[in-house]
Amino acid sequence: MIKSNEHYAKLKTSYFFSDINRRVADYQKENPGKDIIKMGIGDVTRPLPEACIKAFHQATDEMAAGKTFRGYGPEQGYPFLREAIAQHDFIRRGVPMKAQEIYVSDGSKCDTGNFQEIFSFHTRVGVPDPVYPVYVDTHVMAGRTGDWKNGRYEGLYYFDGTVENGFVPDPPEEGLDLIYLCFPNNPTGAVASREQLGKWVRYAEKHGSLILFDAAYEAFIRDDRLPRSIFEIPGARNHAVEFRSFSKTAGFTGTRCAYAVIPEECRIEGPDGKTLQAGDLWIRRQTTKFNGVSYPVQRAAEAVYSPEGLRQTRELTDYYLANARVIRDTMTSLGFTCTGGENAPYIWIKTSGNSWEFFDFLLRRAQVVCTPGSGFGSRGEGYIRLSAFNDAERVREAMERITAALSV
Ligand code: PLP
Repeated sequence: MIKSNEHYAKLKTSYFFSDINRRVADYQKENPGKDIIKMGIGDVTRPLPEACIKAFHQATDEMAAGKTFRGYGPEQGYPFLREAIAQHDFIRRGVPMKAQEIYVSDGSKCDTGNFQEIFSFHTRVGVPDPVYPVYVDTHVMAGRTGDWKNGRYEGLYYFDGTVENGFVPDPPEEGLDLIYLCFPNNPTGAVASREQLGKWVRYAEKHGSLILFDAAYEAFIRDDRLPRSIFEIPGARNHAVEFRSFSKTAGFTGTRCAYAVIPEECRIEGPDGKTLQAGDLWIRRQTTKFNGVSYPVQRAAEAVYSPEGLRQTRELTDYYLANARVIRDTMTSLGFTCTGGENAPYIWIKTSGNSWEFFDFLLRRAQVVCTPGSGFGSRGEGYIRLSAFNDAERVREAMERITAALSV
């Protein structure tokens, strides 16, 4: 019989998320009348902004008429969207960027997961712990790691996120080639200051490393002192690739549109010692395995940058940030130490026992589902993540239930 990819057998996190679902399903079966509030999910709940819907409809009408119908589009995205992104997300904020440096895709999960393909198997890779599991699991699937031992994969280097460093680890002593960073962070909600990101860029300059900077939650930053892009840091254009998504910015989780930013200066070494543009290798990869984002979706994404789109997406992120504040304030007033929830939609909460114990406590006593922190890495043990992506009323109710459960 055909054999499975042996590297998939090393994966751990798939069991983790199915374990959450199983525990919730078991509880619901035992207690069919109980209303469960899911505060663990990283998916948005509000509809698409009006401006995006309007553009989406118009573009669909274009697809319905012979004269305006479009087939395959450019793999890197239509120029109208690449130009709007460069202009609004970078140039307008004082960060030089060319439209050709923007690579439109159907999601940051795919981009951050697929990017490892363009690097040598000898690449020394560093990831934070706790971590968005996609960075790690895609390395495992591609056979780029060893086995799972003591809560970590052999062959990967982990940077510890701790209360002491505010979940913004410093660069390590050893020189690594590829570094994954994510700010505002999932799962911890931590944000990195200009100085902290500057340390990583200096590190990358010293060791010739490349930083893969995941800025999927950039739109939640409200503190103007915080960098929204790694390209605000001098030197980053030579040493970083940034990933952004319309998923959380504009409610596109089910619509699918994102982009990677690969500056022209970003170079990597080929097997013959010659330097290559990282963007060229990425195009090579994408043109083989990807055929672009649909035209109506790209028009809907472009509408994010219209005056109404900018206002409506701001309202959207404000809505979730108001939820985040309620969660953070409640949990803090109950005596918990919290990270995030200020410039991020996630609140990372230190629990008294282990993550699963607190998960079970919240499920059984408050009918609230959280995400146990241990699913994001060994340094997540003893924490839970609550998500602000929910209806405001449900969030308030969840907080009332948790307050009541803890006061018994
Ligand atoms: N990066 C991080 C840190 C995320 O938390 C998520 C989604 O939860 C993604 C990327 C995926 O975004 P997309 O919907 O664009 O695939």
